Parts: sequence; C-alpha cells; structure tokens
Amino acid sequence: MLSNKTALVTGASRGIGKAIAIELAKNGVNVIVNYNRDEKSAIKVVEQIKSLGRKCIAIKADVSDFDDVANMFSIVNERFGKLDILVNNAGITMDRTLRKMSQEEWGRVIEVNLNSIYNVTKNALPLLEKNSRVINISSIVGLYGNFGQTNYAASKAGIIGFTKSLAKELGRQGITVNAIAPGFIESEMTNRIPFIRKKIVEWLIPLKRTGLPEEVAYAAAFLASDSASYITGQVLSVNGGLTI
Ligand code: NAD
Repeated sequence: MLSNKTALVTGASRGIGKAIAIELAKNGVNVIVNYNRDEKSAIKVVEQIKSLGRKCIAIKADVSDFDDVANMFSIVNERFGKLDILVNNAGITMDRTLRKMSQEEWGRVIEVNLNSIYNVTKNALPLLEKNSRVINISSIVGLYGNFGQTNYAASKAGIIGFTKSLAKELGRQGITVNAIAPGFIESEMTNRIPFIRKKIVEWLIPLKRTGLPEEVAYAAAFLASDSASYITGQVLSVNGGLTI
C-alpha cells in the first residue's frame, strides 16, 4: 500500500490516465486529476476515487501552457503541500505523412506531448519529496517509429531521452524517473483507427489482442511502489510482445 502518498496524473479524465489515477487510488494514494476540457468526466473520476476513501480533486490545466501548469501546481501546493508521484500521461495524435504534415500539426503534437513534460515536471520539482516517483507515458512508437506519425514518434522518443537524463539528475535525492511504452491499448485515441488495421495489428501482437488501460495502470502502480525502489531511467514496455 502507498498510504499517505499524493499523485498527480495529467490527462486523467479518461483512457490510460483515468485507469492510472484509479489504480493508484486503489493502492492508497490521494490523487489530483488533471484535465483539459472534459470537466464532467473528470468529476466522475474524482467521485470514483473518493468512493475508495481517498482524497481527490480535479484541476483544469492545458499541459502545453506553462502558466496554466504553474497555476495548477500552486493549487496542489495549497491543498496538499507536497507530491510523491507524478504521472505525465496527457498526449495527442495528429497523424499524417511528413509530406502532407503542416507546421501546426508538427508543432501542436510536440507542444502537448513533449513541451508538457518540461512544463509539468519543472513545476512539480519543488514539491517532489525524497524517494518520489516520476512516470512518463511514452509509446511503442517512440521506440520503433510508425508510418504517418513522425510528429508523435519524435515527441515520444523525446520523452525517453528526458526520462533517462532526469533519472541521472534526481538519483541522489532517491527520486526515480521511468517511462512506460504502451503498445496498442483500447482508448479513444485508438478507437479512431480503422477496424481492418486494428485486426492486422492484433494479428501481429504475440498475445493476439490489444491491451486495456488497466494493464498500463498496473505497470504504473508497480513503478510507483516501494518494490520499484532500485529501478530508474528505464522504459517499461506494456505491449503484449509487439516489437514492430
Ligand atoms: P486518450 O485520448 O483517451 O487520453 C489522452 C488524455 O490526454 C485525455 O484525457 C485528454 O484530455 C488529455 N489531454 C490531451 N491534451 C491535453 C492538454 N493539452 N492538457 C491536458 N490534458 C490533455 O488516449 P490514451 O490512449 O488514454 O492516451 C494516454 C497516453 O498514453 C498518451 O500520452 C498517449 O500518447 C499514450 N499512449 C497511448 C497508446 C494507446 O494505444 N492508446 C499507446 C501508447 C501510448
């Protein structure tokens, strides 16, 4: 159990972020649910976590906006005074081959997926206690690349470099910094993928099925736990064995 710990999960109103927020709460953690637009869904997650007996609040902030994120952390400081677990989960896709990709499509994905990691982690640092945990959600695409996803792949590979470097900077405070690289996980992000492409990917996955958000959440809860105290600077793949 991770009693008396406090976590902030970005993009936690749905999908993988929501599953991580709930799994941490099941493990005894008080949770701050960050969301960007969907207040209704964020409040539902807060209610679910409160029903588990944990403290929980939702804070609206666009993670690509440094000032918005700074405001979020002043609320965290006021309400909780510290942070033990930071999960950088928020992310978007804007898929197109590079030949057709606009500067806006390149820039927005880098802003939301990668600049956010700077904005959020930088503002979280003063609140992170000794032995805290930083968990960044990368992607299988950051490791192997994917057709039509140069912007997304660059952002997710950037997260891995950030993770390995920050692990070296924060090690002496006992703070671990790790990344999770999910494969094909059922969520609104992957719901947009055409049925036939999904079937082809499923066939390529050694476990012959797509993953569930909860299966990523179990990995996050492990990295957040005392059992992962000597693991830092690593990328944990949660992908059913998929390697392309
Ligand atoms: P999702 O679209 O359901 O969730 C993304 C979340 O990020 C949403 O809650 C959204 O509101 C939030 N978000 C987007 N822009 C934001 C912003 N500017 N500020 C704050 N929040 C913002 O998708 P998901 O599958 O749950 O994705 C979660 C993370 O997992 C993402 O980083 C994604 O890249 C990564 N990932 C997903 C898969 C997959 O197969 N689903 C695979 C690998 C990695």
